[in-house]
Amino acid sequence: MTTRTKKKRKPAYVYLATGPDGCKIGLTADLNGRSIEHRHNDGRDVAIVWSLWVEPDAHAVELGLLKRFASKRVRGEWHALDAVDVVWLTTLDAAGAAEVAASWKPTRKPTGTTPRTGCKVRPVVYAGGKKIDESGKRYGRWLILDYAGTHPTNPNAGAMWNARCDCGTLRVICRTNFAYGGSTSCGCLQREKCSARRTTHGRTKSPEYSAWRSMRCRCHNPDYFGYKNYGARGIVVCERWRDSFENFLADMGERPSPDHSLDRNDNSGPYSPENCVWATAREQINNRRNTRFLTLDGVTKPLTEWARDLNISRQTIASRIRYGWPVERILTATVQ
Ligand SMILES: [Zn+2]
Repeated sequence: MTTRTKKKRKPAYVYLATGPDGCKIGLTADLNGRSIEHRHNDGRDVAIVWSLWVEPDAHAVELGLLKRFASKRVRGEWHALDAVDVVWLTTLDAAGAAEVAASWKPTRKPTGTTPRTGCKVRPVVYAGGKKIDESGKRYGRWLILDYAGTHPTNPNAGAMWNARCDCGTLRVICRTNFAYGGSTSCGCLQREKCSARRTTHGRTKSPEYSAWRSMRCRCHNPDYFGYKNYGARGIVVCERWRDSFENFLADMGERPSPDHSLDRNDNSGPYSPENCVWATAREQINNRRNTRFLTLDGVTKPLTEWARDLNISRQTIASRIRYGWPVERILTATVQ
């Protein structure tokens, strides 16, 4: 007798399971275990939808509920009940539940239903008529304005609220979507992130970008037609520029004119801030690795400039060099 009394006074969960035969009012210390048992013995559709931890005497609460709903009993602890008939108890503590179970009157019947979330059911804000006031609160870019009622078609969706996104969009949003971090904007945040990823600098069509891209190809893409003169010769793009057009643009600035292109001072050196300038075509020719310089009367010019200034073809000068002519004769002899 003593042991039986002790057993009865154990704390436990009073729970409610729903199934094809209605609701079962039950008692267990192990909700997960009992949930599995129910599914195994009573079928897949049986789920615990509501529970309340009761101390010290869960059995008394269970008995109170069974007595209260005795007229609805179908078989065993199964009753022709809807979950909403009991679920409003979630708004009470265990002592309140025991009291209500003992002297229950249907005065506070709720209008909502409980979501079938498995073993553990959170107290639902609308079931007991308790509404969490969100007005004036901020969730990401959402500023919550005022209450907009319940969801028109889905009673489990929870409260709806009028809200304004920072971009100005007004929308009715569901509390379950914004209150737990699901929705943080009308979609404008996502769109901004996407477009920021697509165009990092907004200058993909600029001549500076073309210069940067072909520079990388020349040095690091063996399939590129100019690779043999650059990458294959050990010309590299410095680390600061290799993967950052922004760095390149910051160091080099904009191209001064359409006549300018990227050039290196030291032709065997890398593409780097120290070694690069925007140069005109002429400036670049003077700097070619195969440019031949000729000095006459203390004036040093590349072959092409001599050719232009003296109105002799480059080929003529080149052949004279090959024949081993002295510089003076190369540049002064009249063409035959
Ligand atoms: Zn927005």
